[in-house]
Amino acid sequence: MARSYGLLIQVITMGKPIVAIVGRANVGKSTLFNRMVRKQSAVIEDFPGITRDRIYGEAVWEDKHFLMVDTGGFLHEPDEEIYKEVKNQVLTAVDEADIVIMLMDASSGVMPLDSELIDNLRKYSKTIFYVVNKIDGPKKEQALYDFYSLGVDIHPLSALNGNGYEELMDTIIALLPDSLEEKSEYPKIAIVGRPNVGKSTLVNCLIRKERMIVSPVAGTTIDAVDSECKYYGKKYILVDTAGIRKKGKMSQTIEKYSFIRTLRNIEDCDIALIILDTYDGVVELDQKIAGVVHAARKPAIVLLNKWDLVDKNAVSTEEAAKLVHQKLWFMRHVPVMTIAAINKQRVTKLFPLVDKIIAESNKRISTHELNIFLREVIAKKEPPLHQHRRVKIYYITQVKTNPPGFTIFTNKKEGIKDQYIRFMEKQLRERFSFEGVPIDFYVRQRKKK
Ligand code: GDP
Repeated sequence: MARSYGLLIQVITMGKPIVAIVGRANVGKSTLFNRMVRKQSAVIEDFPGITRDRIYGEAVWEDKHFLMVDTGGFLHEPDEEIYKEVKNQVLTAVDEADIVIMLMDASSGVMPLDSELIDNLRKYSKTIFYVVNKIDGPKKEQALYDFYSLGVDIHPLSALNGNGYEELMDTIIALLPDSLEEKSEYPKIAIVGRPNVGKSTLVNCLIRKERMIVSPVAGTTIDAVDSECKYYGKKYILVDTAGIRKKGKMSQTIEKYSFIRTLRNIEDCDIALIILDTYDGVVELDQKIAGVVHAARKPAIVLLNKWDLVDKNAVSTEEAAKLVHQKLWFMRHVPVMTIAAINKQRVTKLFPLVDKIIAESNKRISTHELNIFLREVIAKKEPPLHQHRRVKIYYITQVKTNPPGFTIFTNKKEGIKDQYIRFMEKQLRERFSFEGVPIDFYVRQRKKK
């Protein structure tokens, strides 16, 4: 079944493996996706591109972690151009994934579009699982025979009721090697942003030397993927600069924007630098990228690049930052820095800020301090009544760092609403800063002793 382990291992050294689901519309892709992505984030706000059309998430099976990507529906579009475009998008996702699940539908049998997609998939040296969905009764099992004509191994599944699901997951994780994810001793920085905001210009002025990564597969070396840079003798790793630099210093070719690559880099970093083009302001794709950083719970800095083009009399840094925060309202805690990568303006100021924010992410507040703080917060505003009864918060404690997480203990869990959590977060930031860092809250119910 597995055609190439080499590729798989190669990509895993860069972070979590990616599993993409492809298939026609309505075969059950999102049902399977939702089953696999159990860890629903506690984030309720409506992030652009995250809550509305959630296309990626983290899956865990027996301690193995990987990223799931739903590629959206593959349909015969009436318009040939659109059809080509959709097909290209699906195949780009395939190209970048480590494992592909090709999902089909038992109730419709093999459709011409299935065969076409399979023909295309065969051109990639990927591990592909051919899964026939909606097998939820003996009648449907009959339907399976039709699929054997495709000449590939078939996994029967009911994404809805879970038949065949455990077997599928067991087979998938058996193909994932033990995590080779190296914990770097140096801070890992991901530089993310849409095409033409100035990523490669910035990378080129930060980098000193390329780092070669030796593949665990004998006889092969892998292109340099990460690069080192130094600031006052301290090392930093820029994640996946190959993707940014490959177009070359001089070339003005338009970058083929890869959402999956961005996703992987974000997952892999200690801090994300989100680059914006001052001239364009915050556009939808910027919001989407920032939304992914936020959902991945990573510390971040927003860089407003091309600040050299701005008439400083017309707009101040503070005003510009305010506009950014309006558009990226879920990132009000993230600092906005103006730079001009093209002439290295303020670029070195980045490193002290990176250090500061990573330190914030690892900061611990003592339970004693937190509870003094808690009493003041409650004195300002108590949680509203829940079913006509008072909601009490007994105490708060920091349970983790990177990103920081706090557990609050209450007499009524349902009584602590999101609105109150947001109020607490705001107070917590006013007191303890946590600049640039997301904060997680957990609510636990306790009987009063
Ligand atoms: P990428 O696609 O995000 O890697 O963007 P590039 O680094 O290729 O930059 C896109 C264009 O913006 C190029 O023409 C750069 O010369 C230009 N550019 C990048 N940074 C700046 C800057 O700070 N100021 C100005 N004026 N132009 C810049």
